[in-house]
Amino acid sequence: METTPSLACANKCVFCWRHHTNPVGTEWKWAMDSPEVIFKGVTESHYQMVKQFKGVPGVVAEKLKDAFTIKHCALSLVGEPIMYPEINKLVGMLHAANVSTFLVTNAQFPDAIRNLVPVTQLYVSVDASTKDSLKKIDRPLFKDFWERFIHSLEALSAKGDFLILISMMFSSTQLAVSGQRTVYRLTLVKGFNVEEIKQYADRFSLGKPDFVEVKGVTYCGTTKNSGKAPLSMSNVPFHEEVISFCQQLADLCADYEIASEHEHSNCVLIAHKKFKRAGLWHTWIDYDKFHQLNSEFVRSGRPSFSSVDYMQPTPEWALFGCKERGFDPCETRWFRNKNNKV
Ligand code: SF4
Repeated sequence: METTPSLACANKCVFCWRHHTNPVGTEWKWAMDSPEVIFKGVTESHYQMVKQFKGVPGVVAEKLKDAFTIKHCALSLVGEPIMYPEINKLVGMLHAANVSTFLVTNAQFPDAIRNLVPVTQLYVSVDASTKDSLKKIDRPLFKDFWERFIHSLEALSAKGDFLILISMMFSSTQLAVSGQRTVYRLTLVKGFNVEEIKQYADRFSLGKPDFVEVKGVTYCGTTKNSGKAPLSMSNVPFHEEVISFCQQLADLCADYEIASEHEHSNCVLIAHKKFKRAGLWHTWIDYDKFHQLNSEFVRSGRPSFSSVDYMQPTPEWALFGCKERGFDPCETRWFRNKNNKV
């Protein structure tokens, strides 16, 4: 399920697929639905939408049946989900229903990041690496947008996996605090944010993300709200250009390596080397383990797990450089042009 409890955000990004028809604001100032109302509304609407796929050519019956049990929720659709004042309760309700949470925030609300309960995977969008580029691409509402951006990256670092050493008289006890997978999400838009690679690398030390997900922008058309320099297909990087960007970036960051790619989504994953155990990448998620660890945390109130505690081996077909290039061989690939395989 993909949803958001807030349609509003504090940016007007040039690549936004909502075409700026939703509200913008720097604080919550709208009527608010309770988390109970939102949870009921989004799940019912999701199942209603899934139902419409019944009988559609190409839809596999078994997959359709699976889709009637929500297992994962991306809190990212349009707007800024972290703006919703009851976001923690909503996340708690999703976890209680055994639904994992992937929350994306656009780095303008550092306090809300600090106050957020653990989610399965927390993303901060890093749409540019310098103040001028961020202004150009995100067109933020806040005057202090750059400070908010930097503080959001710092807040992400505190959400990650770090250790407090408590020295005791005869021994030292390691207490792992906080714990969730943290991600920088980069959307590459040619002509806007694909230069300044060194500055991107410098930002790694602020947020210390577990992963950096890099994708080529998806061109969503142009409307009268697209601004003076609307995007076109020429702003979409080819997959090989995304890889080249990632290789240059990873070369500058000793703790990171390219781990995985999805050629068909124009996506590349750079991962922290702590997810490589005995030469094998573990970039996948053990969801049952996450729910178990998180419910222990909710019960005890003592954060005691970290992102590596619920990692799972990456399948061979998803590793960077493999022949499948991220396409699950159990799935059937549909090519528009069967001869050229595109
Ligand atoms: S933050 Fe998200 S919803 Fe807001 S303008 Fe940017 S892409 Fe669109």
